[in-house]
Amino acid sequence: MRCTVIGAGVCGLSCAVRLLEAGWAVEIVAEKFSPETTSDRAAAVWYPFLVAPADRAKVWAMASYSVFSELSASEPEAGVIMRTGREYLRENMESPDWHTAITRFRLLGPGELPDEYVHGWEFEVPVVEMPRYMAWLRARCESLGGTLTQRRLESFDDVEGDALVNCSGLGARELAGDDDLHPMRGQVLYLDQTPAVGHFDQQPETLAYVIPRSDCTVLGGTAQINDWNESPSEDDSELILAKCTAMWPGLDTSRITGVAVGLRPARSAVRLELESGERPLIHNYGHGGGGVTLSWGCADEVVALLSAAT
Ligand SMILES: Cc1cc2nc3c(=O)[nH]c(=O)nc-3n(C[C@H](O)[C@H](O)[C@H](O)COP(=O)(O)OP(=O)(O)OC[C@H]3O[C@@H](n4cnc5c(N)ncnc54)[C@H](O)[C@@H]3O)c2cc1C
Repeated sequence: MRCTVIGAGVCGLSCAVRLLEAGWAVEIVAEKFSPETTSDRAAAVWYPFLVAPADRAKVWAMASYSVFSELSASEPEAGVIMRTGREYLRENMESPDWHTAITRFRLLGPGELPDEYVHGWEFEVPVVEMPRYMAWLRARCESLGGTLTQRRLESFDDVEGDALVNCSGLGARELAGDDDLHPMRGQVLYLDQTPAVGHFDQQPETLAYVIPRSDCTVLGGTAQINDWNESPSEDDSELILAKCTAMWPGLDTSRITGVAVGLRPARSAVRLELESGERPLIHNYGHGGGGVTLSWGCADEVVALLSAAT
């Protein structure tokens, strides 16, 4: 059976891998490939963030956590590293519902909180270094026999296949006629300096993060709803530096090496469902700020839905 996966971001490539492993012949058709996708801009830490529905997202996130943990131990070239991070909060909050499911989690003491913060926790989660990871994912697809075609689609009828999987990210707004899908703009800076641990304030109003990679540190962020501007903004860079310095006073702002912008595919909830027709079409888009975090769990569900439908 032949399946066409539309989209070569982290969601499309993860689905393609799982479909190939399940015995499907897979063609990936996409307008853009790495390093030109939104997925390439992701910071990217495993952390369920700005995604719904919460109950399904937790299942998808935990499945992905397992895969990323295994990759960090078994496939160094995938660019996945387990790292310690600290989340800081300006008011007391319950620990996230996944805190008992990950390998290391503890509450921070008062002496471990930056000024202005009153609560927080430390955790160990996968950091996915997207430039390396996207290359690894593509190579994995190709090694399993998947083929890649560069093409912009105007309609699902433009492609062949016994089944389709729609992982077109923000492109689904036009392709699937989905007005619920909208951009949530994110700007990041790259820094040539390494913090001892990652630092996070993931409340939407104050969003800030410092994520160490092996070759740089990623600083963020912004979450601007319905903002289609893909050019970096000087004001946003200054805001990001101020927010990150508040969490990490040792940050040396003279060591910034780059800036990037990505448009998260935001939606009231992830759309992962079967649309029945002449051939099965599975939609898998709208992952907002958590597409990397949810990628493997969603891919598993796509394969299960497709198996049940064929
Ligand atoms: C600054 C920033 C930081 C982030 N940090 C994190 C993080 O720390 N953790 C996390 O989990 N997530 C993070 N995200 C979110 C994550 O990047 C997204 O949720 C994820 O990349 C979405 O992946 P996708 O495969 O659905 O979409 P995309 O990566 O956008 O891929 C869509 C694909 O579909 C193709 N396509 C679209 N329309 C068409 C068409 N008409 N015809 C053919 N092809 C088409 C595109 O060319 C592309 O190949 C971050 C995002 C940003 C911007």
